[in-house]
Amino acid sequence: MTERASLIQIQDITKVYRMGDIEVHALRGMSLQVGKGELVSIMGPSGSGKTTLMNIIGCLDQPTAGAYFLGGTDVARLDDDQLAEIRNRQIGFVFQNFNLLARTTALENVELPLIYAGTSDRRQRAAAALKAVGLEDRLHHRPNELSGGQQQRVAIARALVNSPSIILADEPTGNLDSRAGAEIMAIFQELNQELGVTIVFVTHEPDIAAHTRRIIHLRDGRIAADEEVANPRQAGEHVYVGDRQTVFGKSLQELLTKGNNAR
Ligand code: ADP
Ligand code: MG
Repeated sequence: MTERASLIQIQDITKVYRMGDIEVHALRGMSLQVGKGELVSIMGPSGSGKTTLMNIIGCLDQPTAGAYFLGGTDVARLDDDQLAEIRNRQIGFVFQNFNLLARTTALENVELPLIYAGTSDRRQRAAAALKAVGLEDRLHHRPNELSGGQQQRVAIARALVNSPSIILADEPTGNLDSRAGAEIMAIFQELNQELGVTIVFVTHEPDIAAHTRRIIHLRDGRIAADEEVANPRQAGEHVYVGDRQTVFGKSLQELLTKGNNAR
């Protein structure tokens, strides 16, 4: 992979949190490149800096020192509006606790980012994203009417609906049983393989990380190892409804792209 093809380029970043007189060195000098279309997992003990790194990659926070280029753009030079624009349009976030609005249907939860972006065809695009994660028969369910795995699939649909180039997920399977975790990995692999979405996610579980080609191990704010997985595990079950072509193939991509062009 050439340097130029890298979507995420991190050069010698540090992150120091200051709390009164105390300094916490969360990242102690880290360089990292992730190419377009990669599926990468990040592992490491609690406190090793995983969430701090994800927040920086997601433009939610800035490093104390060092440089971060996203798609060739120096993120440090962007103002708040430009950062918000990148977070809305280019990055989809998935969290351990799903972060869905409680009294709101699956469809409305997925429509939210489109409302912020002022997109047309909201209903149609949200329904397409929910179909892509196998929830086309749960559009009008509220989070408490869905299983944990289904709630996380709604969150993935919400992350997906703006056609982001990157999905960032911080311990997305942390609150799920192993079966639901495998379903989430099946979806990540599909999105990565069929739509070419770059996906970076944090996990504690070696079985989950084994689904990716690359595992980055953090320790004490540094990269301890950057491991290539020879034979990534393929999550067996396809959880989405409908056939591969109409769900992950052209029609979803067309629908999502059409909405983009209409803006
Ligand atoms: P991980 O996600 O790997 O558990 P974090 O990135 O959350 O690690 O935290 C790395 C270190 O930075 C820890 O020592 C943590 O206590 C500290 N830290 C994280 N966020 C903050 C913050 N907002 N203020 C102060 N210290 C923080
Ligand atoms: Mg964390």
